Amino acid sequence: MNNSTVTLDKIVALCKRKGFVYQSSTIYGGLNGVYDFGHLGTLLKKNIRTAWLKSINATFDDILEFEGSLLGPHDVWQASGHVENFSDPMVDCLNCKHRFRADEMDLTKPCPNCGQTKWTEIRQFNLMFKTQIGAIANDDKSSIAYLRPETAQPIFINFKNFISTYRVKIPFGVSQMGKSFRNEITPKQFLFRTREFEQMEIEWFCKEETALQDFQTWCDSRRQFYSNLGLNMEKIRFREQDEDERAHYSKRCTDVEYEFPFGYKEIEGIAYRGNYDLTQHSKFSGKDLSVFDEETKQTYTPHVVECSVGIDRLLLTLLFDAYHEDVVEDEVRIVLKLHPQMAPIKAAFFPLVKKLNEPMLKIFKDIKRKGYEVEFDESASIGKRYRRQDEIGTPLCFTYDFDSETDNCVTVRNRDTTLQERIRIDAIEDYIKKTLNKE
Ligand code: ATP
Repeated sequence: MNNSTVTLDKIVALCKRKGFVYQSSTIYGGLNGVYDFGHLGTLLKKNIRTAWLKSINATFDDILEFEGSLLGPHDVWQASGHVENFSDPMVDCLNCKHRFRADEMDLTKPCPNCGQTKWTEIRQFNLMFKTQIGAIANDDKSSIAYLRPETAQPIFINFKNFISTYRVKIPFGVSQMGKSFRNEITPKQFLFRTREFEQMEIEWFCKEETALQDFQTWCDSRRQFYSNLGLNMEKIRFREQDEDERAHYSKRCTDVEYEFPFGYKEIEGIAYRGNYDLTQHSKFSGKDLSVFDEETKQTYTPHVVECSVGIDRLLLTLLFDAYHEDVVEDEVRIVLKLHPQMAPIKAAFFPLVKKLNEPMLKIFKDIKRKGYEVEFDESASIGKRYRRQDEIGTPLCFTYDFDSETDNCVTVRNRDTTLQERIRIDAIEDYIKKTLNKE
């Protein structure tokens, strides 16, 4: 059993075939770098969010949840430095007009699209989506707004609200999951680099004295998170950024990287940001964002450790990691070996033949009403039904047969081992629970 055969094309095809992810607006030709999530993709994302929140709250006490606005005024993004600096270098081919990220190109070589070597000058392209607020369009800065390119800034500008409404004391954290938007020059590798994506971020406000230690605690906690997701930890590495890679205000920065078939790539950034963000917003807004330390009787501006991971990129990582092809009964089967807690569907229920639908439907509905994501499938051979569930990562399949009528048992089949055993109908829920809670 291995997943060395996994390619981006196979993952894209699987996502489309099984309804995890659809290219957005396809009936109108598609929107590049933007995706819609189908039933299974949505369930998988929900499981990722749940696991993330659990892990964040297991790290430290005093974590608040937050949902900031997607639109922010010009002033916010000017203070954060995004208006001036949030850009990538761009270059165009003068012949075919194709546009590329200049830092990903060797400009001494021909254009990969048309084969000519005629380039424009390199220009900086700001990645923020800019829009106008209100009915009167004018150049007045007060009517300019941006879709947020990261979730962090709405947290920083609400810092005083957290202190005054929840009476939290340093250290505390604010977690947020939500959409971010970046007008990427070249969206690519499917969900890896998109123009609309979702982030899960924690901003941990602390004193300067504990910041480096807290940074380490967060790094350890994030490692545990990836291990709990069931990822192959041999493919995960924590790479400390060099000084010249880091933003000038950042004192430490570690990228969590996964080994995709297209190389090691960042899935999460963990950064010690100093007190840059609160200081900038204090300066630009004119509002004091410092706090009073009861112990030392001094005011200070808290420091921040940030962990930021993209859900879409993590979903893609989980699919790459889980994708396996093996041979069962002389046939190649595709199986997603997702951790049971991540699997979108936890169990499937099959009547051996349609004549047995009724008793199996009753069992299925009973489990569904208890809040489990489950499926009922009555069509095609049992072998085919197993394959369908394997492909979407369902850990357990239960089959009701003629013996069930008298022995009150069903056959349960395990996704990974393909082994089957007979269990009592009234033990089904416990069996599912046990599977979900397995390490
Ligand atoms: P990259 O260098 O890959 O563009 P970044 O360093 O700009 O990433 P951050 O600003 O640190 O990314 O964002 C934190 C996380 O948000 C990333 O680790 C990634 O998981 C996710 N993310 C960032 N940009 C995108 C994107 N365009 N599409 C999908 N996810 C993204």
